[in-house]
Amino acid sequence: MLQVFIAYSEDLERIAFMPPSLKEAWTGRIKLFYREYVPQLGEVLPLERVEPSTISEEELLRAHDKEYIDFVKRKSIEGMGLLDYGDTPAYPGVFENALETISATLTLAQKLLVKGGVGFNPNGGFHHARRRSAGGFCVFNDLAVAALWLREKGLERIAIVDIDAHHGDGTQQILYSSDILKISIHGYGYGFYPGTGWIDELGEGVGYCRNINIPLPLGSGDDAFIIALREVVESLLSSYDPQFLIIQGGADGHRGDPLTYLNFTENSYIRFASLISRLASRGVPVLVTGGGGYVPSTVARIWALMIAGIAGSGAERFLTGDEETESGRVLLGIVEDRLSWLKNKIDECGL
Ligand SMILES: [Zn+2]
Repeated sequence: MLQVFIAYSEDLERIAFMPPSLKEAWTGRIKLFYREYVPQLGEVLPLERVEPSTISEEELLRAHDKEYIDFVKRKSIEGMGLLDYGDTPAYPGVFENALETISATLTLAQKLLVKGGVGFNPNGGFHHARRRSAGGFCVFNDLAVAALWLREKGLERIAIVDIDAHHGDGTQQILYSSDILKISIHGYGYGFYPGTGWIDELGEGVGYCRNINIPLPLGSGDDAFIIALREVVESLLSSYDPQFLIIQGGADGHRGDPLTYLNFTENSYIRFASLISRLASRGVPVLVTGGGGYVPSTVARIWALMIAGIAGSGAERFLTGDEETESGRVLLGIVEDRLSWLKNKIDECGL
């Protein structure tokens, strides 16, 4: 089993970049995870709580333009209005809060680079933040900041795998022409946020074929998610052979989430964790971020299950015995067509 590092601070329990109606769900799952699940994980795994050290705001320049950083600072002083077209509110101190959440992810990246193992920042995974704009409750993109920091430390093969129900549009945009491997499995359908993440958005320049989107029709169940892992994600990760893995582990694809229309259960997440665990057990550091998910009791449990599964001990204690959900013949046929298109493309690219 592997050493687990959990980013832990009182601030991480209360910071949320969403409208008041969702704030409680966001912070509630982090509080629940810290109180109920960290002690349980500590019984089955060597676990260390890591207090994030605040990073310099210069680190943000790896992924964001100075004008945008200054805009967030200004709005943070004004303390009102919005940081984007309508999702992400400004409030007094939003800049400092955003810097703290990014600091937690980067602190873990620094830790894992030296010590290896599995890291988890429950208040991370801000995949909708773009180079010059906020979006979808995300201010700065910790995934991109951490990946670019690791690149600067000399790592050549870094992979980001995003299983949040929503497409990681910000990560894609910031790293579109970078050869860092980005894989996103997400819901895709009429009116579903953010509307990007189609199969043909493959990256550009040296980043071509390093941006792999697996859009699943709304209503997809465990079978669709698992077939995507088996047919594309597993072989892609094995041929890319990452030296460091960053995961956006949003659990809003779980059935019953109020913001999405996917139908996953614990079966999807445990299968994902066991795939990642095979890399982790070979010594690849794995940094997991919390991402979305708006039913605190479900999300906190799924996070614990994923961490234990990836670190290689005790995941079964977080399973409840859910039946694997099925997508139905029509939806599954759509998924198979998309996967076969992607597999051909990946073959053509020689990945
Ligand atoms: Zn989401």
